Formats: sequence, structure tokens, C-alpha cells
Amino acid sequence: GLTGNKGWTPHWRDPAPKPAYDIIIIGGGGHGLSTAYYLAREHGLTNIAVLEKGYIGGGNVGRNTTIVRANYFLPGNSEFYSHSLKLWENLENDLNYNVMHSQRGLINLFHSDGQRDAFARRGNAMINQGDDAILLDREGVRKHLPYLDFDNTRFPIYGGLLHPRGGTARHDAVAWGYARGADQRGVDLIQNCEVTGIDIENGVVKGVQTTRGAIRAGKVGIVVAGRSGQVAAMAGMRLPIESHVLQAFVTEGIKPVIDHVISFGMGHFYISQSDKGGLVFGGDLDFYASYASRGNLPMTEHVMEAGMTLMPMIGKSKVLRSWGGIMDMTPDGSPIIDKTHIDGLYIDCGWCYGGFKAVPGSGFSFAHLIATDRHHAPAARYRLDRFRTGRGLMDEEGTGSQHN
Ligand code: FAD
Repeated sequence: GLTGNKGWTPHWRDPAPKPAYDIIIIGGGGHGLSTAYYLAREHGLTNIAVLEKGYIGGGNVGRNTTIVRANYFLPGNSEFYSHSLKLWENLENDLNYNVMHSQRGLINLFHSDGQRDAFARRGNAMINQGDDAILLDREGVRKHLPYLDFDNTRFPIYGGLLHPRGGTARHDAVAWGYARGADQRGVDLIQNCEVTGIDIENGVVKGVQTTRGAIRAGKVGIVVAGRSGQVAAMAGMRLPIESHVLQAFVTEGIKPVIDHVISFGMGHFYISQSDKGGLVFGGDLDFYASYASRGNLPMTEHVMEAGMTLMPMIGKSKVLRSWGGIMDMTPDGSPIIDKTHIDGLYIDCGWCYGGFKAVPGSGFSFAHLIATDRHHAPAARYRLDRFRTGRGLMDEEGTGSQHN
């Protein structure tokens, strides 16, 4: 249908790299693009290049299961994700781009008294932060999700925590919207440009080496998600990060049936339905450190079993595709947005399973840090040295079984 269209212009330019920029952002994923966008929009800095080794949106920003929420519990995460969700709520206006943000409500199921207590506490923390949470009993869950297996005696459903403003967004569109917004403000998006070295003189960053030549810069931000350990090593840093594969699955398109995001509290399984009708679901990491983005069958089996336990009706739909992405996992499950020991070199990483929902907040806070050399309040606790001193750790790897 679209092949007859002539004269369509690309969404962003394809510039050759200049010899020097004020700021270089390494990594054209969600976080790198949003950082460049907010540097331009909030701080008026536009002599910027985003260097991407592949193509824009080819990393995890285009591989995730698109869940957006602000249901964190611990100080640090709580205010950060709350800020990020507020940015999401105005993102389409901001970017003038349809990112299909759908606040369809997210329900975390619980299956024991202990889990109920934990979710009640989490819900109160969310309300204290100014966000929304409703504790549902079993009948309350049944009203929203009548198709779950309520007769399951092994994992009885006791209730759920409903986060009405949680939901999903179209992941590629988020990357494209930020890319276009940054490009329109003069940022150079340079694809097929892998950073292979970081130039440092007397403790000060001077630029980068790339597959398209050397590029000088006054400031450099590393935002490369699953490759954080490798790129930081170019500056002599050993990060508290392991890279692991996380898989996801989608079925053939079916009529609308699941109109929330649901997470199972007794196994690693979560699900939503895409606008094309596919059931999008996933579980936990494959649990071995790797840079290979292909997962293995035991986790596939585990996820399918959990899904069948919770809602046997999905057994009728056929799985169309599965894929994996490389997660940058920190020891406490919380991210890092900080300066490094090298002057002018900054790092934003460690988003673990949950960095899609953080794309606006992370870009906003990282841009603030790069532009002003001061931490942005909602992200002020995301310090790198917490892993050295042990002070300020935020042990919040997931939210019950709901990591993503
Ligand atoms: P990326 O898109 O991976 O960007 C990093 C970029 O850096 C890549 O494009 C890469 O090519 C580039 N790069 C790497 N090395 C170099 C180099 N040397 N030179 C130049 N460029 C380089 N999060 C949620 O919030 N909700 C979810 O539901 C969710 N589900 C997920 C499901 C799966 C299966 C996966 C894999 C992830 C999920 N996530 C989710 C996590 C989320 O996708 C990531 O945390 C987030 O996308 C990472 O940030 P990014 O978008 O910047 O990463």
C-alpha cells in the first residue's frame, strides 16, 4: 500500500560526523536519544552527536515488552519513576509524535497473606509519592480479569494491586519520536558508527575513536545499556554490572481479550495485548552472563508454564516470535546516572529489566547532569559509588514478579 508514495522524506538527517562536538552521546537507544533531546530542549545545547553502532532503535528500546509504570517502593526509585511517568503523560504533545501511550492499568497479582501485606505497603508508598494505587480483593480482580483461573488451588488468587496510570507504549515510536525531536533541534544522529576507544588526557576526556574516525568532544556520555561494561572499560572502568539475556514472546494477533497489563505473583510471567492483537509476554532472565541476545528453551518453557497456570485460555493461541535483549544488571537492581572519575565523562546505565519506562526520566536527568554538572533531584540517589561504599543501595530488583 505504501510503495506508491513518492517524495516522503526521512524523519531525520544522515549527517557525516564532524571532527568535533561539544557533547558526544554514545548509544542511540531510548536513553541516548532522550538525553540528546533534553540537552537541546531544556539546556539549549545543540552541538551534539549521538553515535550509534547499529541503527536507531535496533537495541533494547525496540526489543522490550513496552510496560510503563511508576509503582516503585524505595526512596530514590519512587521519585524517579514518578517523574518519568509524568513526562510520559505529556510525551506525545512534547514530541508531536504518536507513541501510543496507553494507560490501561497494571495489576500485580498476589497469592498469600504475606504478599498482600507487601503490596498494601507498596500501594501506600505509591500514594505517598503522589501516584495511584488501588488494592483489589479476589472479587475485585475477578471483575477486571474474569478469564484468570480462579479455581487454581495451588496458587489461589488473593487479590491484586491496581496501578491505573500504568500501561504500555509503542517502543519503536518512542525511539523515532525522540530521534526526530533531537534531529530537528540540530543534534547529529550518526548511525553505523561504533565507538572503539575513549580518548583521555591527564584525567580529562578529549573525544572518542570510532569506526568512522576520531571525533573530539568536551563532554562524553556513555548510554549503551547491555554494552555498558565493554564501553566503560575503554575508559579503564570496571562497572558493577553483569550483562544477561532477557527473552520475550508474542502470539498471533487475536481479538481484544486482555485490556490490562497483568503480572503473576507466583511465577515469572507478565502479559499484555498489543494494538495489533498479539499477546506480548515474558518472564525472567536466562540467568547466565552473556552478550548473545538469543535465549534458551528452559526459560521459554518456564514462561509458557506460568502463563498456562494463570490463564489456561491462552494455550489456544500460537506463539509467533520470540527474541532476546541484553540487560545491564546492577547488584541492587537500581540504575546509575553519575559522573565518572574522568573529567567530562558521564555514565547512565544499569537499567536492568525496567529501562523502557525510564526513557523520558533518564534522558531528562542525565541531560541535567551533563549540562550543569549537578545531579537532578529525582535521580540524585543513582550514584556509582554506592557499590563501593555500600551506602545508599536500593535493593529493588523488580516489583514482586513484575520486573519489566
Ligand atoms: P538500547 O536500545 O539497547 O540502546 C543502547 C544502544 O547503544 C544500542 O542501540 C547499541 O547498539 C548502542 N551501542 C552499544 N555499544 C556501542 C558502541 N560501542 N558504540 C556505539 N553505540 C553502541 N523495560 C521496561 O521498562 N518495560 C518493559 O516492559 C521492558 N521489557 C523488556 C523486555 C525485554 C525482552 C528486554 C530485552 C528489555 C525490556 N525492558 C523493559 C528493558 C529496556 O528495554 C531497557 O532497559 C532499555 O531499553 C535500555 O536502554 P536503551 O533503550 O537506551 O537501550
